[in-house]
Amino acid sequence: MQVSIVCTEQNLRSRISEDRLCGPRPGPGGGNGWPAGVGHGNPPGGGGSGPKGRAALVPRPPAPAGALRESTGRSTGMKYRNLGKSGLRVSCLGLGTWVTFGSQISDETAEDVLTVAYEHGINLFDTAEVYAAGKRSSYVITTKIFWGGQAETERGLSRKHIIEGLRGSLDRLQLGYVDIVFASCSDPNSPMEEIVRAMTYVINQGLALYWGTSQWGAAEIMEAYSMARQFNLIPPVCEQAEHHLFQREKMELQLPELYHKIGVGSVTWSPLACGLITSKYDGQVPDTCRATIKGYQWLKDKVQSEDGKKQQAKVMDLLPITHQLGCTVAQLAIAWCLRSEGVSSVLLGVSSAEQLMEHLGALQVLSQLTPQMVMEIDGLLGNKSHSKK
Ligand code: NAP
Repeated sequence: MQVSIVCTEQNLRSRISEDRLCGPRPGPGGGNGWPAGVGHGNPPGGGGSGPKGRAALVPRPPAPAGALRESTGRSTGMKYRNLGKSGLRVSCLGLGTWVTFGSQISDETAEDVLTVAYEHGINLFDTAEVYAAGKRSSYVITTKIFWGGQAETERGLSRKHIIEGLRGSLDRLQLGYVDIVFASCSDPNSPMEEIVRAMTYVINQGLALYWGTSQWGAAEIMEAYSMARQFNLIPPVCEQAEHHLFQREKMELQLPELYHKIGVGSVTWSPLACGLITSKYDGQVPDTCRATIKGYQWLKDKVQSEDGKKQQAKVMDLLPITHQLGCTVAQLAIAWCLRSEGVSSVLLGVSSAEQLMEHLGALQVLSQLTPQMVMEIDGLLGNKSHSKK
C-alpha cells in the first residue's frame, strides 16, 4: 500500500492563514528548540553538541503537574495541546491515513481531506505515505518503524532497521526529516538500550525531532525512559494507543500515571473502532465501508460476531445522549476520547471530507460534555476500568 498525495502549494497556501494560534504561548514548539525531555539529548542536526548545547538552555519552572495547556486557533477553533510534556504543540485532532488513503479513496478525495484538515487547524498527520505541501514548520508529520520488508533484518527495532527504515520512509515521503518517529510495536528481539540509542542517534542526526512508542506496555515505556535517563539519551515523548468506547483500560489505568510521572503523553487511534462506533452497521455491513475492503475480513467478522452485535447495541443505547447534545454518535465518541487525561491528540480516520467535517464538530461536543453525561455513558457501557490498587 503506497500512495503519494501532494496538495499543491498554491492550493493550500491560498486557503491557509499562517498565524492561526492564539493563547498563552507564541506558537508550535515555543520551547527551547530541544527535541524532547528538556535537558536530555542534543538538538536535532546539532551533531551531538552535548554539554555545550545544554549550557545554552535557560532554565524555566517545570510545567504544572497534570495540566495540558490548551490554546485555541483564532480562526478555526481547533485546540492545541503539548505532545506529552514536550514543547511540541499538536492539534487535539490529528489525521491518520492508515486504511483509506492507501486503498479506499481516490487521490482527489485524499487531497480534499488533507486540505480540509489543514484549513481547519489540524496540524498532526500520522502517516508514512502522504505528503502535504504548505509551510513545513506549520504541521507535524509522523512515521512508524517496525514493519518494513520480508527479510528478517527488514522489520523490528534493531538499530539497523530503525535507521534504514526511517531513511526509507524519508525517501518515500521526499522529506528531510519527520517530526516524530514511532517505534511501532515492541520488539522482544531487540535490547531496549539498542532501541533507545538508535532513536537518540536518528534525532541527533536530524532525521527526526522526537520519538515515541506505539502499542508498547507501560513497563516497556518506563524501561525506555529509565534507560534514557541512565545513559543521558533521549526518552520517548508519547505513546500511540488504541482508545475508544470499547477499548479503554490502558488509557484509563496506565497512561495517565506515565504522563504524570515521566511526561509521556498519548496520541490515541481508532476513536470509532474502525467505524463500528457509528450507527451505520446496526447488524449488517453496508456495501461501501472499511469492512468490505480486501484484507479487512476481520472487521466484517467482528461486526457480525456476537461481541460486535453487543457493541452495536450499546452504541444505539447512546442515542438519547446524542439527541440531548444534538450531535452524532461519531462526534460523541471522539469528544469522549478527547476528554481523557493525558491525551495530546486523537487520530481520526476518514473516507471522505464529509466525515472529516462531521468529526471536527466533536470539538463543540467536548465543550458540552458534562461529568454527569460521562457518568451516564459509563453506566450505559458498563465497562469503565477500575484500578486494583
Ligand atoms: P476510526 O475513527 O476508528 O475509523 C475510521 C473509519 O470509520 C473511517 O475510515 C470510516 O470508514 C469510518 N467512519 C468515520 N467516520 C464515519 C462516520 N461519520 N460515519 C460512518 N463511518 C465513519 O479510525 P482509524 O482509521 O481506525 O484510526 C485512525 C488513525 O489512527 C489511522 O489512520 C492511523 O493513522 C492511526 N492508527 C495507528 C495504529 C498504530 O498501531 N499506531 C493502528 C491503527 C490506526 P468507512 O466509512 O470506510 O467504513
